[in-house]
Amino acid sequence: MFGSAQLAADEQIEETFLSVGTRFLIFPQVPHLSNYGTPETVWISTPPEKLRAGPSDHRIYVSDPLLDKEPYEYPNLPPYVGDVYPPAEASFDGHFDAIPIQSRQFLAAHAFACASRVLDVWESYIGHPIVWHFAETYERLEIIPYLEWDNAQSGYGYLELGQDIGTDSNSHPYALNFDVIAHEIGHSILFSQVGFPSVFRPGGYFTPFHEANADLISLLSFMHFDSGLDRLLRHCGGNLLVLNELNRIAELSGDRQIRLASNSRRFSEVSAEDHDQSRPFTGAVFDTLVDSYHTRLVREGLADEKLMNIDVKGIDGDTLRRVSEFTTRAFRARPFLFKSALVQARDEVAMALARSWRGINADDLAFDTCSIALIEAGHQVDPALARRLEINLAWRELL
Ligand SMILES: [Zn+2]
Repeated sequence: MFGSAQLAADEQIEETFLSVGTRFLIFPQVPHLSNYGTPETVWISTPPEKLRAGPSDHRIYVSDPLLDKEPYEYPNLPPYVGDVYPPAEASFDGHFDAIPIQSRQFLAAHAFACASRVLDVWESYIGHPIVWHFAETYERLEIIPYLEWDNAQSGYGYLELGQDIGTDSNSHPYALNFDVIAHEIGHSILFSQVGFPSVFRPGGYFTPFHEANADLISLLSFMHFDSGLDRLLRHCGGNLLVLNELNRIAELSGDRQIRLASNSRRFSEVSAEDHDQSRPFTGAVFDTLVDSYHTRLVREGLADEKLMNIDVKGIDGDTLRRVSEFTTRAFRARPFLFKSALVQARDEVAMALARSWRGINADDLAFDTCSIALIEAGHQVDPALARRLEINLAWRELL
């Protein structure tokens, strides 16, 4: 090739090279839990050339206050202007995956990577860049990676992270907690996609809707970690329904997302509390994920077709054992095909969820209208998915 054709090809190669992104380390679940002490390498979409120390890019920057800072509360809002710790910096190759895990800067890099990862995952489902809901005031999200505070909050233009005092009385920074960060970024994504009601009514469905979807965003984002999926499937021998049981008995792992999502609450059984109200919707989407996964296992010949006769809703110990009978041996023989089935089910459900937000009006938000929007979105992905959603949402009394 010569002349302009050569130039165009060079530019395309350069563009492809740039779009590879930047390496960071993320703990898929909090590191103090058993089996999660090793972080996974992930690629964040921003290329090294466009990432600055902080880290900082076009979407997010981290500011780490040197002295104690009070949590933001109106009228005290970003940007943070006081002295800060030295920022997290890339190594000579432009990547952020060589920062010592025990260092202060690792908290900054980890929180940045978690937030960026969740954005990358959901931008790929939504199909375009997510514009922050606060974009008229702030160009970028400010992350405060560490506060002496036993809480975490996201607000207009910021995400700030304190620490969790564990049952072992040790403090665990939320900056290392992918689940918490993904849930908070989930709220921001929802504000960006669904907007705000013109009048906020306490006791309405807006908050429960947000909590359910933020939990699902966290769960489906977690399912993008290769090592996370491997451990998840190994813990349960390919039977996702067992996880809930395992967690309750042994608190084996940090699968909080699964524990919340794998529930059997119907709408008439929940209290008026917002998180409680969110459970039936989260549960219906989780059941649909499991149904989709089972369908694929049977279709691929990985499980007996009798698996399809098992109702995954309101499951008891006996049913759990029957599901395990269909999956355990096959899982040991073909773990990677099980993972592939789960990845396909994850993407199908996440696509429907992301599309459903377009059809939701923040001023007219109720669980039945959200359920209908989700079924319609599911129909665009696959009519069989829409049928599964309809059955599961109806069982939860959400239609
Ligand atoms: Zn929340």
